[in-house]
Amino acid sequence: MKNILMYSDEISRVEYDPNHPFKPGRGKHLMELLKRYSLIYEDNQQIITPEPLNEELLYLAHTRYYIDLFKRADEGEFRLEMLEAGLGTGDNPIFRGMYRFSMITAGGTHQGAMMLMNDEARFVFNPIGGFHHAGKNHAGGFCYINDIVIAAADLVRKGKRVAYIDIDVHHGNGVQNAFYRSNNVLTISIHESGRTLYPWSGFENETGEGDGFGYNVNIPLLKGTDDEVYVYAFESIVPPLIESFKPDIVFAQIGGDAHREDPLAHFRLTSNGYKKAVRIINDISPKILAIGGGGYNEYKTAALWTLAWAVFCGLEPCDHYAGVVGGMMYGPEAHAGRLEDEPFVANGVDKDESFAHARDVVAYIKKNVFPVHGIR
Ligand SMILES: [Zn+2]
Repeated sequence: MKNILMYSDEISRVEYDPNHPFKPGRGKHLMELLKRYSLIYEDNQQIITPEPLNEELLYLAHTRYYIDLFKRADEGEFRLEMLEAGLGTGDNPIFRGMYRFSMITAGGTHQGAMMLMNDEARFVFNPIGGFHHAGKNHAGGFCYINDIVIAAADLVRKGKRVAYIDIDVHHGNGVQNAFYRSNNVLTISIHESGRTLYPWSGFENETGEGDGFGYNVNIPLLKGTDDEVYVYAFESIVPPLIESFKPDIVFAQIGGDAHREDPLAHFRLTSNGYKKAVRIINDISPKILAIGGGGYNEYKTAALWTLAWAVFCGLEPCDHYAGVVGGMMYGPEAHAGRLEDEPFVANGVDKDESFAHARDVVAYIKKNVFPVHGIR
């Protein structure tokens, strides 16, 4: 079965605002690295230029009121209600073309989901997708249209079981809220604690309501979390839940902002911990829809996505150009350094504290959530 990359030059050229940290240009950096490391153009791979989403599908995730405001803002109209809906803020500026940008990114995620459902692919990656903070009636955290909720909700109404694993450093609050009362979507988010990071939510006791009780799982970890603590928590919780839930399709929001060089968050992951989480996702999932999410060190994020792409496609990165120009680096690597990081293990009081906290969170989930799924 095929591995698909959703790639759009048009989307890679979009800028929210020159000083805005969210850079769609990461898609282009990814493409350069995939070429450099011989990870693209395999026989079982296909690059698809995504089409805009069918407009009716927007209402699977958003209210007509919000979409109407969003379109008017895109057309240059200004109303106070827009600010109340999160439009025109520092995080979510109003920029020309934002409606088309959102429709194409959501279109790519939705098209990927449909291809997986129809057995046309085993793995799809939409790097400029994964807008997990967008809410039903508001924008937030650099997200306008929640492509994840739209695609997952459409799969659910077509009778599919969807699991969502979010390894972006921020809590996937928009996805949590959309499926909080549903047991058709198992939502798991591992992130920096809401005590120190936007969106200030995602605590372990947010476990779903009604039919959804036990189907919303949060693994908040303390700032300073390193690979060791992260992998311990991820391995303890994610595989047993996915194995028991038996999803048809797994969504993986693989934001690169848990990396220690990310400027907006406070984890200390290296590519080693990130890759381990990705490898586990690959091993436990029948079909995977990966979406890029955050990552504000642009080049490092592109490097992490490159490693994820290689894992999901079952390939090893191979640099044919290494040493060619007297060992000189060029292209995005000049900024990213090497594709993979040296191992890093934190120690000291902070480390003990973050490990103890992770153990408490894991114990809480095992005690309160695992029984819902019959996991002993
Ligand atoms: Zn993020």
